Amino acid sequence: LPSRLPHVGTTIFSTMSALAQKHGAVNLGQGFPDFDCDPALIEAVHAAMREGHNQYPLMSGVPALREAVAAKLQTLYRASYQPDSEITITAGATQAIFTALLASVHAGDEVIILEPCYDSYAPNIELAGGVAVRVPLTAGTFRPDFERIAAAITPRTRAIVINTPHNPSATVWTEAEMLQLAALLRDTPILLISDEVYEHMVFDGAQHHSVARYPELAARSFIVSSFGKTYHVTGWKVGYVAAPAALTREFRKVHQYNVFTVNTPMQLGLARYMADAAPYLQLPDFYQAKRERFRAGLSQTGLKLLPCEGTYFQCADIAEVERFARSGLRGDLAFCEWLTSELGVAAIPMSAFSTGPALKDAARQTVVRFCFAKKEVTLAQALSQLQEL
Ligand code: PMP
Ligand code: GLN
Repeated sequence: LPSRLPHVGTTIFSTMSALAQKHGAVNLGQGFPDFDCDPALIEAVHAAMREGHNQYPLMSGVPALREAVAAKLQTLYRASYQPDSEITITAGATQAIFTALLASVHAGDEVIILEPCYDSYAPNIELAGGVAVRVPLTAGTFRPDFERIAAAITPRTRAIVINTPHNPSATVWTEAEMLQLAALLRDTPILLISDEVYEHMVFDGAQHHSVARYPELAARSFIVSSFGKTYHVTGWKVGYVAAPAALTREFRKVHQYNVFTVNTPMQLGLARYMADAAPYLQLPDFYQAKRERFRAGLSQTGLKLLPCEGTYFQCADIAEVERFARSGLRGDLAFCEWLTSELGVAAIPMSAFSTGPALKDAARQTVVRFCFAKKEVTLAQALSQLQEL
């Protein structure tokens, strides 16, 4: 079979999780919590099942969940989205992003992505028949470089994908950066796909600058989020997209033929759980405490910590880790493999998030990403093993 994605292998997340399992390593690679969700959420899903909510829901999603999302967008970002015509429940953020791209991209269209970035964007663009235009984030700081973004825009540019809080670098876009993006896109027909799956994980009292806060941007945007990240249920694969009615109409034309709809009891359980409280409000403190402990432990090692403004990822530079240098190996991928087999801790190499100019030479990449969405005992175990660095 001629491959539709000839340059693509298995994702780094599956690869590193398998390696971690093989070596019995503490898995700080793939981003998922190793603790369970609130039992009340499980009970809400069970109740929905017992009540017989086990058949197809509406194509756009269970109404109560779309209403809960609309209420959240109103409360947090002062944005009005109509649950019936502007919010669609998806099988996770990955499907939301892919469907938004399939609905937007015509053959040969260009879509700008800012590398390093989540690894599904570029293959999704290619599968949609488009061309991924890879613009590097600023080297070292991972902040958007608007001059380079402006220079990448052509008459074929259909869309740009952004992600804040950012996986993998843990940066959070500022208001000034959002306004710069708005100025750049003004008077263009360029669509915006805004991946906001870590919207509730922003630290040090800072705010998440959702595109929903900026009406000028929101008018051209698919805003994507994921219940998996917010409620510690990544395996449920439930997310949503919020977009103006005209964009949502086109989104749903594709959605109805690639998944049609998403499992009913999880949707209803999430809706009822969200109605009782706003559990996401505790997330910044919850993850900031983990970040503090993890950073304190890592600071005792040869790793150099990068800032962590949001997400549940901590990046570190490996350039001064002497023990690794002595191994004769080079590069962030080799480091992650070495770390897994030698010290029993799995991480993800930053180079896995780039394929364009940001990558340059993988052997010179020196940043790795750790996931700290882990129990205290898991983090303590990992930190004790990392002290040998
Ligand atoms: N975007 C980013 C930036 C992510 O980190 C993830 C989580 N792996 C996703 C999208 C996908 O989220 P989901 O599991 O809901 O598909
Ligand atoms: N979002 C998670 C990460 O970046 C997991 C992604 C995945 O397994 N596809 O690690």
